[in-house]
Formats: sequence, structure tokens, C-alpha cells
Amino acid sequence: MTVVALENVTFAYGEQPAVKDVTLRVDEGDFLGLIGPNGSGKTTLLHLMLGLRTPDSGTIELFGEPVSAFDDGERIGYVSQQATSGGGSMPVTVREAVTMGRFAHAGHGRLTADDHAIVDDALETVGITDLADRQVNQLSGGQRQRAYIARALASEADLLALDEPTVGVDAESRDAFYQLLESLNDDGITIILIEHDIGVVTDRANRIACINTELYHHGDTESFVESDALTEAYGATGQVVHHHH
Ligand code: ADP
Repeated sequence: MTVVALENVTFAYGEQPAVKDVTLRVDEGDFLGLIGPNGSGKTTLLHLMLGLRTPDSGTIELFGEPVSAFDDGERIGYVSQQATSGGGSMPVTVREAVTMGRFAHAGHGRLTADDHAIVDDALETVGITDLADRQVNQLSGGQRQRAYIARALASEADLLALDEPTVGVDAESRDAFYQLLESLNDDGITIILIEHDIGVVTDRANRIACINTELYHHGDTESFVESDALTEAYGATGQVVHHHH
């Protein structure tokens, strides 16, 4: 099944397009790494895919329907760039936040013992069972990412979209986080990941989209590694390519 399909998508905030003539497809079970220099249109492209922005031209489909008609939000877990630092001041525990993800599946808004067991499983899967009674806004960045993902698991999301999810997270937790993503992907969850560390992406993703306003590569990771797409996409910017692996 095709999860996301874009055809000739162009979007501009002002005069200059931020995303130009992008055609790409994400299939069920894919782990797509979305890479490119700073300001190259990655976040904009992800927003377009999720229907958070409307393209100036071109078409976008989510789970086989036009994104403008898509209203099955619980199928998508989105971890935005703000997720590590934000959280707001609403006093809600981790368990409560994750349980909210379950309501879409609860008949008449009532949670059964099974629903609560699914919440427990989600907490366990991401490794935050012992944090269940903490306030979300007291978690560290990395713990908060896991809470967001647990919530997506509780809502049975089939797509996780993450925008630089480990900014400000220490190296060890970061590695554990990416192992978690990989195991969720092994379980069949489709992943779209924006990440500036190319090594992480080429280690974990099976598909790569490399963008600098236009797409420089879209295809499997092997052919990306063998191509010149990275140098070409970064070439004009003078930005350094990050390779921590
Ligand atoms: P990336 O995620 O690759 O860093 P973005 O998609 O955030 O890139 O940005 C692409 C381009 O669009 C940049 O030139 C950025 O300055 C511009 N841009 C991003 N968001 C906005 C906005 N809300 N209003 C105007 N310009 C924006």
C-alpha cells in the first residue's frame, strides 16, 4: 500500500519556492530518511505530506486519498521539532497523555481493560513504564519523544513522522531512540524521519529523499550512497555534511 504519494508538488511561502516539483512515494513499511541542508525544505515537505500545508500546485495523497480529505488523524504520529522543548504547562501525566491516544478507538469514549492494557504495552515498548506517573512537562527531551511515540502506538498509528527528534538528546539515548524506531519499523510501522546526521539515516533508512528545494535523490539507500546526490544537494550551500557515525 502507498502511504504518501506526491506528484509535482510545489510550495512557496513568498516568491521563491521552498519545495519545487517534488514527486515521491512512501510505501507501507518504508523507513524514509529525509535529508538536505538547513533551510532546504525538509520540514515544509513533511508538513505538505501530512496536510499541514496546501501545495500551490501538484497532488498529495495520504493512505490513498487526497490529503485535503484525509481525516483519520490517529493513523499518524507526528513528532515535531518543538516536541523536545515544548509540552506546555498543562499538568498531564505520561499515562494520561498516552491514554488520550487511545480514545479514538474506545467505543462511546469509554476505555475498557483492553484499552488500558494497550496503553501499558505502549509505555513498555518505548521503555517509559517507570515514568508513567510523571508530568509530561517534567520529562527530558528524549523521554518526551518516547512519550509521543507511546501515544502514537496507543492510537495504533501506522505512520510515524519525526522532524529531527533527537536534537538536544545525548548520544547514548539517541542511539537507543533510533534502535526503538528501527524495531517499530520492523513491526510494520512506516517511518519518515528528518535527521541532519547522514550516518544515522543511511544506517537505519531503507529509502532516502535528499532535497534542496528540488529532489536530488529519491530511492533506496544503497543507490543513494553510491550517487553524488549528497554533494550536489549540499554543494551550493557551503554547509557541512554531518557524519557522526
Ligand atoms: P528545513 O526543514 O530543510 O530546514 P524548511 O522547510 O524549514 O527547511 O524551510 C525551507 C525554506 O522556507 C527556508 O528558506 C525557510 O526560511 C523558509 N520558511 C520556512 N518556514 C517558513 C515560514 N513559516 N514563513 C516563511 N518562510 C519560511
